[in-house]
Amino acid sequence: MYKIPEEIIREATANHPRLNIEIRQLMIELGVSVQMIGISQFGRDKSEAFSLSTAVGGTHSVPVHAQVYIPEINVDLAVLDPNFPHMVSNSPSWSNANFRDRAQAVIVHEFEEAMIHDRGVNHNEYPVTISNALLQIQSGNFEESVMGQLLVHDYGHYGAIRNAVQTKLRYVSATARRILEQYHERARTFS
Ligand SMILES: [Zn+2]
Repeated sequence: MYKIPEEIIREATANHPRLNIEIRQLMIELGVSVQMIGISQFGRDKSEAFSLSTAVGGTHSVPVHAQVYIPEINVDLAVLDPNFPHMVSNSPSWSNANFRDRAQAVIVHEFEEAMIHDRGVNHNEYPVTISNALLQIQSGNFEESVMGQLLVHDYGHYGAIRNAVQTKLRYVSATARRILEQYHERARTFS
């Protein structure tokens, strides 16, 4: 299990206001709408474009059956780590990229993932298996619920990996594109 280095946590905590502003600015430059920046779902702090509470790269609001989906995204501590194992193993260029490039790659990925759920929930574009899986998260037994979460997550995540390489977000740096392309190549090898 990955543990973010203590030094990165200390530095990020000390610089949280600046990181928040920088990530928000980066999102706006890329063309992410202001409403999408920060996650309010489940009582989270909408003002945080950069979250100190997770170290997975970034995240997005999750779809809930029979609720309007509000697409929202953030970036987290893992973006500060050039040795973040999930990205280094799936996209080697992560480790040589700088903070802005890594953050851009994560923003594009989370944006595309949130937009997949936006189209799925709000425009009925989920395949039937995914609509059913979303229902099972709430109404199924424990196993069905866990399986449903996995299916819905993977549908969004792998869809985002595909869509990220042709994102409509603008001014994505060459290095960030390279990260996303390698991530795509690697995912194709395993699926
Ligand atoms: Zn994802």
